[in-house]
Amino acid sequence: TQRVKLFGVEIDALRMTEAVRQIWRQMDSPEATTEYVVTPNVDHAVLLQGNSQLQAAYEQARWVLADGWPVVWASRLLGQPLPERVTGSDLVPAMFAAATEAKPLSVFLLGAAAGVAQRAAANIEQRWPHVTVSGVYSPPLGFEYDEAENDRIIEMINAAAPQLLIIGLGAPKQELWIARHRKRLKTKAAICAGATIDFLAG
Ligand code: UDP
Repeated sequence: TQRVKLFGVEIDALRMTEAVRQIWRQMDSPEATTEYVVTPNVDHAVLLQGNSQLQAAYEQARWVLADGWPVVWASRLLGQPLPERVTGSDLVPAMFAAATEAKPLSVFLLGAAAGVAQRAAANIEQRWPHVTVSGVYSPPLGFEYDEAENDRIIEMINAAAPQLLIIGLGAPKQELWIARHRKRLKTKAAICAGATIDFLAG
């Protein structure tokens, strides 16, 4: 995939349909380890300044997709146009919509408030019959500093063994979390999805 450097971030010149295809290919690969998606907007560029851990989390991301229109506009002004905007909140439903009876999808929702994630899970299974929510968990405030809690979360996800992990912890928490823990996760792909779980709770 061609990448375009904008606001100090290397962004993939990918359309949504191609991103969906690549993530599915990743999930289909039996020996695959967890690869993840980040969707930067201009705010993230600000967060990235002087935050070397977050920069590393971006560098390790397998997919870096342009969440915001300003990023797409800037790419056009610079003569290296990104084909379109691909937000996390559009990508997640597009992944679900690509599930079929022959190729069902299991997902785990990490983040958002407790009742909200449960409601999102019910909505997802109702709206996309070939998607199964194999687990949901809403971590308590400050969980990222609690190693025992992180171990429990990883065990919970691995026991559920989802193909896809949706992480809705907000930026930069979600990107730092997946970069730090992905080697221990037995899932194929993860999407750092901001407030997408809230949107799916409708
Ligand atoms: N969130 C969470 N735990 C936290 C911080 C945030 O679960 O410690 C959730 C919050 O409930 C919301 C999402 O993360 O569902 C953050 O959405 P926001 O719009 O802030 O994300 P951004 O678009 O800024 O990445």
